[in-house]
Amino acid sequence: MKLGKIIVSGFVATFLSVTLLADGHGTHWGYTGHEGAENWGDLSPEYSMCKLGKAQTPINIEKKVLACTNDLQKINFNYITASSEVINNGHTIQVNIEDGSSIEIDGIKFTLKQLHFHTPSENQIEGKNFPLEAHLVHASKDGALAVIALMFENGAENPLIKKVWEAMPYEVDKKTPLVLSAKDINAFLPEKREYYRFDGSLTTPPCSEGVRWFVLKKYATISPAQVEEFLHTVHHENNRPIQPINARKVMN
Ligand SMILES: [Zn+2]
Repeated sequence: MKLGKIIVSGFVATFLSVTLLADGHGTHWGYTGHEGAENWGDLSPEYSMCKLGKAQTPINIEKKVLACTNDLQKINFNYITASSEVINNGHTIQVNIEDGSSIEIDGIKFTLKQLHFHTPSENQIEGKNFPLEAHLVHASKDGALAVIALMFENGAENPLIKKVWEAMPYEVDKKTPLVLSAKDINAFLPEKREYYRFDGSLTTPPCSEGVRWFVLKKYATISPAQVEEFLHTVHHENNRPIQPINARKVMN
């Protein structure tokens, strides 16, 4: 686990250990009952941003919050490595990626660490949830995070999802080797990669802010049976409720 050796501070360190490595440290949290999203901020002082933060994710991306700009940069994608394994961490199904794939945005290189899934979607577009949302999590060498979000609408079976679901462990904290090629991972994203951009947070405790969010405007498809299969494995919906937009604008 190379990431564990990166020396970073504060929330990012917590995030790396809790979310990226899923190593079981940190206060337990979930999506239902006492440990559910409405109580995250009270479960541990480390999770206080979940209730105090003013730039939290997910959000509803709707016309009234859009700030149109004509100069949104293109994200430069350089996905050249394969995946290594798929983990059931009890909150989601996560595919870890071999070091070496990255995106470049704002003049910063962010390395692709992992991708994982939420059902239904966490972010909304015009008040609408999607059956599934994938998050591709990237980290810079300084520990800054950038997440690319891809929405799935009901339609044809998704071939990459099929490979992931076939390999995903049913048991929590289990991992299975899974080699998805760089070509597979590139084909997972739409060819046109225009996006909505906003400043947000992790959507799971500790809800740390300062995360760059890019929600792709083009959707992928997933079959209803594939959504059911995911739900059957994670046992419950795993989307955090929509958070207030507050002073933020969404770049478009
Ligand atoms: Zn996520």
